Amino acid sequence: MLREFSAGGVLVRVVRGRPMVAAIRPQGKRDTWALPKGNIDEGETPAETAVREVREETGVEGRLVEKLGDVKYVYTRRGGERVFKVVSFFLLRAGRGRLGEIDEAMRVEVAEARWLPLEEAPRLLSYGGEREMAAKAWEKMQA
Ligand code: ATP
Repeated sequence: MLREFSAGGVLVRVVRGRPMVAAIRPQGKRDTWALPKGNIDEGETPAETAVREVREETGVEGRLVEKLGDVKYVYTRRGGERVFKVVSFFLLRAGRGRLGEIDEAMRVEVAEARWLPLEEAPRLLSYGGEREMAAKAWEKMQA
C-alpha cells in the first residue's frame, strides 16, 4: 500500500482563561472541521512541518510545546489506490498573526478558519483521530 506522512498542529490560544483551538474547513468539503496539517517536506522534521502548515493554513505563528501523538488512517485516492497515512500532531501555543489572514494561494485548500473552544473540539472536529488529539491537548492544558 502507498504511504503518506504528514504533520499538523493543535494550535491553542487562551482567551479569558478559556483555551481555544484553531480549526479549518477544507475547501470542497461541506461541514468538515479539521486540524491544520500537511505533507512533510524533504529535510523537514515533523515538528517543523506542523509549525509551517499551521502558519500557512491559519495565518498564525505557533510555538512548539510538545508532541501529542500520531493519527493513522487509510483512504482511497481518486482512481482507487489505497493510501496508509500517518499524521503526527503537536501542541502549539499561538503567537503572532490573525486567524484566517492567509495567502490567496492557500484559499484553494482552506475555505475558512475558526477558533473553537478546545473543550468542545473532541465533539466538533470531524475526524476521530483529530478529536483524540484535541482531547489530549485539553488534558495537558488542565495539568
Ligand atoms: P495533507 O493535509 O496531509 O496534505 P490531503 O489534504 O492531501 O493531506 P487528507 O486530509 O489526508 O489529504 O485527506 C485524504 C482523505 O482522507 C480525504 O477523503 C479525507 O476526508 C480523509 N481524511 C482526512 N483526515 C482524516 C482522518 N483523520 N481520519 C480519517 N480520514 C481522514
